[in-house]
Amino acid sequence: MKGNIADEMVKDIVCGMVKPKSQMRFTSDFLGKIYYFDTEKDKELFDAHPDYWVPKKEREKFRKGR
Ligand SMILES: [Zn+2]
Repeated sequence: MKGNIADEMVKDIVCGMVKPKSQMRFTSDFLGKIYYFDTEKDKELFDAHPDYWVPKKEREKFRKGR
């Protein structure tokens, strides 16, 4: 099976849904990484408190890389 970039599975970290990228209608950029959301509400929740949703490990990795 060949990987299709457009249909790569991504996780909406707010609601926990895993869907093909093409079905994620909203995105948000945080610390240089793109996060995908299936609903506007999920994106709003994420944008309000990105630090709450992104695992600490993920944030520290970014800081070390600077
Ligand atoms: Zn969602």
